[in-house]
Amino acid sequence: MQTTDTRTDLATWWSRKHGDDGGDLLVAYFSMEFGLEARLPIYSGGLGVLAGDHLKAAAELGIPLVGVGLFYRGGYFTQGLSPEGRQTETYEALDPEALGLVREPVSVEVELADETVTAAVWRHDVGSVPLYLLDVDLLTDALYSGNREHRIRQELLLGVGGVRALAALGVEASVFHVNEGHSAFLAIERARALVEAGASTDDALEQIRRSTIFTTHTPVPAGNEVFGDELVVRYIGDLATSAGLSKDALLALGRAPGSDGFGLTPLALRLSAAANGVSELHGEVAREMWAALWPHDDPQIGFVTNGVHLGTWLAPELDELLRSAGVRPDAPPREANWEAALELDRAALWEVHAARKERLMQMTGLDSTRLTIGFARRFATYKRAGLVFSDLERLLALPVQIVVAGKAHPQDVAGKDVMQRIVELSRDPSLAGRVVFLEDYDIDLARTIIPGCDVWLNTPRRPHEASGTSGMKAAVNGVLNLSVLDGWWAEAYDPAFGWALDGVSDDADAEQLYRVLEEKVLPAYADREAWLALMKSSIALLAPRFSMQRAVIEYTERFYLPAK
Ligand SMILES: *Cc1c(COP(=O)(O)O)cnc(C)c1O
Repeated sequence: MQTTDTRTDLATWWSRKHGDDGGDLLVAYFSMEFGLEARLPIYSGGLGVLAGDHLKAAAELGIPLVGVGLFYRGGYFTQGLSPEGRQTETYEALDPEALGLVREPVSVEVELADETVTAAVWRHDVGSVPLYLLDVDLLTDALYSGNREHRIRQELLLGVGGVRALAALGVEASVFHVNEGHSAFLAIERARALVEAGASTDDALEQIRRSTIFTTHTPVPAGNEVFGDELVVRYIGDLATSAGLSKDALLALGRAPGSDGFGLTPLALRLSAAANGVSELHGEVAREMWAALWPHDDPQIGFVTNGVHLGTWLAPELDELLRSAGVRPDAPPREANWEAALELDRAALWEVHAARKERLMQMTGLDSTRLTIGFARRFATYKRAGLVFSDLERLLALPVQIVVAGKAHPQDVAGKDVMQRIVELSRDPSLAGRVVFLEDYDIDLARTIIPGCDVWLNTPRRPHEASGTSGMKAAVNGVLNLSVLDGWWAEAYDPAFGWALDGVSDDADAEQLYRVLEEKVLPAYADREAWLALMKSSIALLAPRFSMQRAVIEYTERFYLPAK
């Protein structure tokens, strides 16, 4: 795996549109995870896949961008199941050279409290976009393992070490994109460098603010990291001092009014020119959540709705059919001619879907004639994987079958409990042939499961699902969404291509879910012409809106270019 393939003959979008005004733009995109390929398991879920898709779309469009992340020697875990149906976790030792990563001829030192660590820098090319991955043997052992102290060390390595790696490589970024707060410490290192080069602290912070773009990804507390003051001072007090920041000034940058501790989200919000949520609804939720940071003003948080990289997520059969109908799925959405998808040949589209479904049936042993519902994502409890199973009798009375997959965070006991219950159901002889759990969910499995289903289910507790990108992967494949009106679906839903749940309470949502299945989804499925019309609308109307190229173009024109 030398490179992650992306097309390059469209690299002219950038030169065509911004060849003149964009000359000095170079974006450094920092993220704790990147989900590019199953073989490079340095991602845990949606956040990482989103970051990987961002690089792929930027490469296709020719946007000058580099990625910065960490190489985890143990990766994210491989999921297994114990005899009791409990999740087991194994970490395989990854060999960067065997994975085709290229060792850069630089190394980077980062002070971590009382020791200095030296990081190697690996490069993985995503088409024209290089991704630089920092690697410190013991520190980057695994993604999201360990305690708070381990965590702040990893995040310092990413933020501080990442900025130093770019300097050592001679990469002069003009805009820094902080993808989730994990990498926000990069601002302190940039301030130190500017102050040591002669700037005043205020000028340095102003310059950093002007050239930083921040994306916040979740309203769930565990995703918005907070550290104790003592840990922060011990780990970055000295760095902040070199930037002319006193201990109190440093701590003030990370404190949200009325709460304790040092938060990476407040730090990133204070030191960026623009901050965005990942859907329209999430933008609103984030503004409310962080309003205290703007006591005299409207909260300065907007949104750029996520997208998915079509080259990765469109099933190859559908990609081929679309091309034969004159659609260019790899072209920028406005040039791709998605209207032509409304005219796809019905028999050919059904054949494409039957082929993808058959692949999933081979893998699961399920029945290809039955309505197949997919539910696959991390087992975070707010996603309520158990909701559809809350009235088993009612569920089993319906001619449906369900495919479930997903990993629980190694420390999430409640998430593992939900998962175990579903694994038990899948092993229950009375449910044989109705519920299948597929182990070790990753990008490859997602590419088989999602296009192989008829309906994609999502039942988050509103408004906790900031975006929910697997639903977009389904939609662009003509797999119809049945989802709570949360995240992306709150702005996308239309009866022309799917079904909505209001997201009121567990009981009300379960009741509504069964009713919609009984009264709407199954009758539509029984009428193939009606179903094919829904599939075509889903593809034609949602693929251009939720393509990652659209999101990256939005970032480029609304945020990167003004910040450079
Ligand atoms: C897309 C994807 C996710 C994110 O799914 P959500 O619906 O946003 O929860 C998680 N894991 C993998 C492997 C994915 O491909």
